[in-house]
Amino acid sequence: MKILYVEDSAAAVLVMRRRLSNFGHDVILAKNGQEAVQMFRLQAPDLVLMDIEMPVMNGFEAASRIRAVEATQSWAWTPIIFLTASDTEENLITAIEAGGDDFIAKTVTEPVLHAKMKAMTRIAALRRGLTLANQKLEALASSDGLTGLCNRRSMDTRVDASFGDAVQLQQPFGLLMIDIDNFKKYNDHYGHLQGDDCLRSVARAIAATVEADNAKIGNHAAFAARYGGEEFAVVLPMASAERTAIVAHALVDAVHGIAIAHEKNADWGRVTISAGGAHLPMASGSIANLFRAADTCLYQAKERGRNRAELLHQTLPL
Ligand code: GH3
Ligand code: MG
Ligand code: MG
Ligand code: MG
Repeated sequence: MKILYVEDSAAAVLVMRRRLSNFGHDVILAKNGQEAVQMFRLQAPDLVLMDIEMPVMNGFEAASRIRAVEATQSWAWTPIIFLTASDTEENLITAIEAGGDDFIAKTVTEPVLHAKMKAMTRIAALRRGLTLANQKLEALASSDGLTGLCNRRSMDTRVDASFGDAVQLQQPFGLLMIDIDNFKKYNDHYGHLQGDDCLRSVARAIAATVEADNAKIGNHAAFAARYGGEEFAVVLPMASAERTAIVAHALVDAVHGIAIAHEKNADWGRVTISAGGAHLPMASGSIANLFRAADTCLYQAKERGRNRAELLHQTLPL
């Protein structure tokens, strides 16, 4: 396992580092608490083995800072074991209070150290498994089961964050609402299962169009989401009005281009979408207003014949 070993005494380092390496661990060394907090942030070790008395920042202070760093990260509780010359009762209590998990005397014998490290290795393996499972759960909970796009819940979180950033940095912001045309008729004619396949294909075309645009711009801020039913949203942080319009038209073209047969869709005979877009040259106010404006444009696109995009450009806050 990866051990962050924090010790200011060169003599102690010499002995302990050799022992830990002999047990087969990777040892990262920090010379005081401050260095330890930095290394912890960068290296995400499996275990912190830390002296208490050190210059610049002592071990107790470092432990509480490490716990604070952890609270902002996705990985779970990292064991912290304090090393000290004096294994008094009082020291043990303070160590636990400071966020430590155990306490080893520097005079520990090699077999005892070896055994303790074995136990810690088991915990490290469990933690890795937990972190992976959490990441998988998070991915599942944030994506739409049918299309694999961002679901409504995670879209709301992401859009709030990116709109908040845009307001703060006074950046432009674009938003598109998309709806499949005459999709009820598609289901009625081809059946619900084929309707699901159609939704998946449309979602793929939307995602590919957004990704192609992201690649062209060189940032990956824009994303597509399943808004609900046969409706999608495309969020375009930092996009100019021109880019917002280009993406809206590209999406309509892309879905038309994949040519999924839809006999009951007016004159086209294939699946089409309508898109409504709204844009702010400088983000302000509430994102809800932008959604409302995009929705109004979507309604216009439907009224004006479907298979098209309509956009609203405002120079004032919506
Ligand atoms: P418009 O062009 O005005 O949008 O007409 P529309 O028929 O697409 O609109 P409407 O809102 O009347 O119908 C939407 C349909 O989308 C009805 C609903 O059954 C279907 N739908 C929503 N979610 C799903 C889904 O997950 N799978 C399938 N197969 N159909 C869905
Ligand atoms: Mg010391
Ligand atoms: Mg709809
Ligand atoms: Mg529809």
